Amino acid sequence: MVNIVLFGPPGAGKGTQSENIIDKYGLNHISTGDLFRKHLGEGTELGKLAQQYMDQGKLVPDEVVIGMVGDYITTKKDAPGFIFDGFPRTVAQAEALDALLEKYDTAISCMVMLDVPEDELKKRLLERGKTSGRVDDQNEEKINVRIQEYLNKTLPVAGFYASQSKDCKINGVGTVEEIFGNISSALDTHI
Ligand code: AMP
Repeated sequence: MVNIVLFGPPGAGKGTQSENIIDKYGLNHISTGDLFRKHLGEGTELGKLAQQYMDQGKLVPDEVVIGMVGDYITTKKDAPGFIFDGFPRTVAQAEALDALLEKYDTAISCMVMLDVPEDELKKRLLERGKTSGRVDDQNEEKINVRIQEYLNKTLPVAGFYASQSKDCKINGVGTVEEIFGNISSALDTHI
């Protein structure tokens, strides 16, 4: 199995680049943000719980996210591998993911980090908010909370993968094609 973590702040382009990676490498996509939005749309208890955090731009508690990812992986055991998009977002989630994959005799192959400056992120998120319908994209205050959550809780995850020599930093500014070209080259040498 090939398992990739696509890492980066909100607005870095993880969703867009995930689609390209899936097309080329045929992996199964897990976006925890999309899974939460699906639960929210279906009005499940999990969705209602997650919404309280998402609407504020805060991270959903670890045990909720980890449980949801564990359940999802169990239903896709025959997948050729996974691309994790927006997960793990804390070191506790990264440790839980390692343990989860170990149960299936597999591991993370590579963590691709999309590097984008903060002012560019804010610009992109506000622009996306005009059409995405996402409450958390439409308000500068919420965007700032999401970026702070990233800096405080998520950035240490990069160190976690660096300590396993699985990190790979990519410039996330440029055309979608240029960025994907750089991601592909990195993946082809790492997996
Ligand atoms: P995203 O679509 O990845 O930007 O995620 C939207 C929101 O869902 C985030 O702002 C969080 O509230 C929540 N969320 C998504 N993934 C995670 C995660 N791995 N850990 C905690 N909260 C998450």
